[in-house]
Amino acid sequence: MLDTLKKEVCAANKALQDYRLVIFTEGNVSAISDDRKFIAIKPSGISYDSLTPEDIVVTDRKGNTVEGNLEPSTDLKTHLEIYSQFPKIACVVHTHSPYATIFAQRREPIMCFGTTQADSFFGDIPVTRELREKEINDDYECSTGKAICEVLTMNIPAVLVANHGPFVVGTSISGAINNAVVLEKVAFMAIHGGKKIPFPLLNKHYLRKHGSERYYGQKKIDQREPASKKRKAA
Ligand SMILES: [Zn+2]
Repeated sequence: MLDTLKKEVCAANKALQDYRLVIFTEGNVSAISDDRKFIAIKPSGISYDSLTPEDIVVTDRKGNTVEGNLEPSTDLKTHLEIYSQFPKIACVVHTHSPYATIFAQRREPIMCFGTTQADSFFGDIPVTRELREKEINDDYECSTGKAICEVLTMNIPAVLVANHGPFVVGTSISGAINNAVVLEKVAFMAIHGGKKIPFPLLNKHYLRKHGSERYYGQKKIDQREPASKKRKAA
């Protein structure tokens, strides 16, 4: 069941290590099935080197394991909360990538200083509020998810969890991994300072890639000028 999704989630988890966003067993990636009935997530405490698609745990939307012999990531409930509040999110990535985590530990947003950030995030990366003692003691992972959802927006697909680390999302698995890698790069650059990006530049860079009239990248075949017309013009 969901063999393709398990393979993709396994590869995405391993990518965290390849991009040096995690060490040992920290961090996790999950993705939701197309019908949004099941979540595939990294098992708890398993190293990335030994991870196989068969190890990936499949749960229902309530977190009950429906496939797999291992325990799911302890952060499962955080992921479930994000999927339930954001119906367009297809993948959730949690890392302890060092520079983004420095900002999370300082409880400081990552200011948008340039177009590297604006190409993926429409502004500053927000930080969650501190969790109350009761939230930590009663239902920590779910409370973390709720705190993330208080500040998460689809056009800034990353949140720094206060004193913890980043949770990054995407509308696809590759998109979420991409966002996690860019987040670490912009955190590294922002730690060296900068000047806040002017809004028109932020707007231009974000919208040319993600807006309804985006034009970044290659046009689809049917949007291109016919070859014969091009030849005539030349
Ligand atoms: Zn963590």
